[in-house]
Amino acid sequence: MTETPFRMNPLEMNPAAINSVDTNPQPQRPTQLPMFRLRPAKPTLRFSPPAWAKLLYLRDRGRTEIGGFGITVPGDPLFVKDIRLVRQVCSQLTVEFDDEAVADFFDEQVDQGRRPEEFSRIWLHTHPCNSAKPSLTDEETFARCFGCTDWAVMFILAHQGETYARLRFNVGPGGALVLQSQVEFTTPFAGSTQETWEQEYLANVLPGNRSPFPLLRMPEADEISEIWELGVEDPFAEGGFLESGFLEPNR
Ligand SMILES: [Zn+2]
Repeated sequence: MTETPFRMNPLEMNPAAINSVDTNPQPQRPTQLPMFRLRPAKPTLRFSPPAWAKLLYLRDRGRTEIGGFGITVPGDPLFVKDIRLVRQVCSQLTVEFDDEAVADFFDEQVDQGRRPEEFSRIWLHTHPCNSAKPSLTDEETFARCFGCTDWAVMFILAHQGETYARLRFNVGPGGALVLQSQVEFTTPFAGSTQETWEQEYLANVLPGNRSPFPLLRMPEADEISEIWELGVEDPFAEGGFLESGFLEPNR
């Protein structure tokens, strides 16, 4: 693919993610609903709800890993608005992209007017197991296939929702940073009704440091009409939770 010089460090393009120094003291007037959102405090890979839904669907469609690229928003390189697959051969432990398919995908994206940093820097894949920890193969792939770009992100989503995201810099002295990841529900998306959610928020969430209402509490046993019997699957039933691996000290 043809590399276009990258203009800015991706973190500099999302300054709120790394520091709270406000270089523009003039208060900005809110122009739309998302102005009310709280910006993530740490560098965060964010997904639009449709992108996240698509990734969950693709993860659960088969029993193998699947891999793809995150399509991001211009000027917001850590906000994934879509997920795209390319032709690939997959097993439960590996994903191998077809080189020709990757080239075709890159050509298609350039034809659509996207810059390389908007479609080729966020490598996503799933793990059919419960751990999102990168494998040795993942590390080798990340270094081999994404070691020549200015920066790249490896994102892994495991079967039960565990995630792992790491930003790698290949410019200057180089470096890496583990990112948080989250789904961002504050921008409009199909099926959402931010206006009614906003009305419900304003009607029910009161400002103030101390709540006039008692804190939410767990119900007492005699207040629950139906107690579920977990039986032998309950890891705490026989005191066997240590053997079950339920409490992994390293998790
Ligand atoms: Zn992996």
